Amino acid sequence: MSNSTEKPTGSEPAAAPVHRHFIHETLARDVEAGRHGKRIATRFPPEPNGYLHIGHAKSICLNFSMAREFGGTCNLRMDDTNPTREDVEYVESIREDVRWLIQGWADKSLRLKKQGDASGVGVSAIESPGQAVEPFYASDYFGALYEYAETLIRKGKAYICDLTPEETEKYRGSPDVKGQDSPYRNRSVEENLDLFRRMRAGEFKDGARTLRAKIDMSSPNIWLRDPVLYRIRHAEHHHTGRQWCIYPMYDFAHCLSDYIEGITHSICTLEFEVHRPLYDWILQALELPRELPRQYEFARLNLGYTLMSKRKLLQLLQENIVTGWDDPRMPTLSGLRRRGFSADSIRKFCERIGVTKYNGLTDASLLELSIREDLNARAHRVMGVLRPLEVVIENYPEDKVELLEAVNNPEDPSAGTRQIPFSRVLYIEQDDFMENPPKKFFRLVPGGEVRLRYAYILKCVGVDKAPDGRVVRLRCTIDPDSKSGGSTASRKIKGTIHWVSASHCVQAEVRLYDRLFTVEEPDAGSNPDFRKFLNPMSLEVLTECRLEPRLKDAQPGESFQFERLGYFCADAKDTHPGKPVFNRTVTLRDGWAKEQQKPS
Ligand code: ATP
Ligand code: MG
Repeated sequence: MSNSTEKPTGSEPAAAPVHRHFIHETLARDVEAGRHGKRIATRFPPEPNGYLHIGHAKSICLNFSMAREFGGTCNLRMDDTNPTREDVEYVESIREDVRWLIQGWADKSLRLKKQGDASGVGVSAIESPGQAVEPFYASDYFGALYEYAETLIRKGKAYICDLTPEETEKYRGSPDVKGQDSPYRNRSVEENLDLFRRMRAGEFKDGARTLRAKIDMSSPNIWLRDPVLYRIRHAEHHHTGRQWCIYPMYDFAHCLSDYIEGITHSICTLEFEVHRPLYDWILQALELPRELPRQYEFARLNLGYTLMSKRKLLQLLQENIVTGWDDPRMPTLSGLRRRGFSADSIRKFCERIGVTKYNGLTDASLLELSIREDLNARAHRVMGVLRPLEVVIENYPEDKVELLEAVNNPEDPSAGTRQIPFSRVLYIEQDDFMENPPKKFFRLVPGGEVRLRYAYILKCVGVDKAPDGRVVRLRCTIDPDSKSGGSTASRKIKGTIHWVSASHCVQAEVRLYDRLFTVEEPDAGSNPDFRKFLNPMSLEVLTECRLEPRLKDAQPGESFQFERLGYFCADAKDTHPGKPVFNRTVTLRDGWAKEQQKPS
């Protein structure tokens, strides 16, 4: 198969070329060898116990790109075998995030569950924009899994054990201490079947008994020392209600869910490598009729300056360090989306970091680079003043308003132009004026000149101060011939600054977001308290911002480049008609890299 570069087909947007990596090679080899009738079926199996984060995006992109690449399918499956930690809120958010990330790119590969079809046979895909994603649920297989468990018992390969969880742990031993057989290991098939059925019927309390695989208590692989397959848990399940009081363990449910769905390649992160022998043991012990799925592992994403664990992200929420799963500082897909990251930029990032077998730390600036590139190509340029300072142009008539032409996006001529009102009273950025400037300050100073973007050359002729000495107003003049087309339009001036017209602008709140932590690995080491490394400047809220009039009608989620400042996105929750709230997605340049190069 030739696929190092890929042409877009039909109306699908062009995707980044698929680079060959070891997973890709494996799949290509298996197709070539005719495994599974040359079919490729992958799955993305999140546990609905939190929102998806950028690490999950890596897994989604990998699984869907492989399905897409080989004309196969990818199932979204809720790995929902743990009733006490899971919730429908998480199921809903996962459905939405996956749809958002793959729609228009790999949605043809998405295999959806048909309504009323628990086995999930039947292929379909997102057919219309906004269509809901109907995932598969591992909990739909509880009946089938129960039957498989009975089969194992009948084959003498599983038994009911009455050891307590603590005893079970002790009997298991450690990597260099052999385990010890459970005293219940040699129960008869009849007794095991009877006890298992009574477990299911709810006769026993939580933790009283477990079903365990009968493998090898002296195996060097601790996961093969008679692992627990089922446990008693009298708990309500978000998908199956009170139907069950015994629940399968991850290792038992996962391989069999893969088998039931006809998955060919079960791709997961490296920490599951040691589980692979158990994955294979369970499937082989059942002597199943169809060709078996196989597990492959790749390195998980660890991204600098943030956390990549749902449990720790939940802690940030519970301790009110962030406002929710979709706080724009969170590495969750909903947080990144709210911050202004596009699905495309996240997919490009995943493409860029590649797929390897070695765990490492990915530079946070790579993610920022992806969104900068994306927004540079498509975001309209606008002017917005975050910390306004009033400027009165004394030689400009009070009632005059000029409309000046500005280019919406120099990278994209089709984005056109717009007109910006210019008048006697303007706002400029407080930072763009200094009364006692250092050398090489090329912005406005008393008696000095600066060019106003798209407009005139401005000269500061006086400074009005409050009683406390604070500068409250600049008195200025313009060179009336210095506008585009004028006789002094090409007069050389070192600095150009942005501005808005005071009587035309819209007042808005702007939220300046920055990295959540001050160190690359806030949770490194054995048991560090990552809260010690929180960045106190991760959010700054400015409520007095003045933006050019066009932004009054910014749509929730719409992105812009505020010239000289960065990329900003109208907050999807708090933006209301005529009252926009903006989130800073990313600065124009990587300020952190500069910070690190400073001599200390
Ligand atoms: P967390 O530790 O954040 O709770 P998890 O592994 O428990 O993550 P799951 O919902 O079980 O989360 O993950 C679903 C899939 O996403 C799994 O196949 C898992 O391997 C993959 N995955 C999770 N985290 C990452 C990551 N950081 N990088 C790549 N893949 C990941
Ligand atoms: Mg997990």
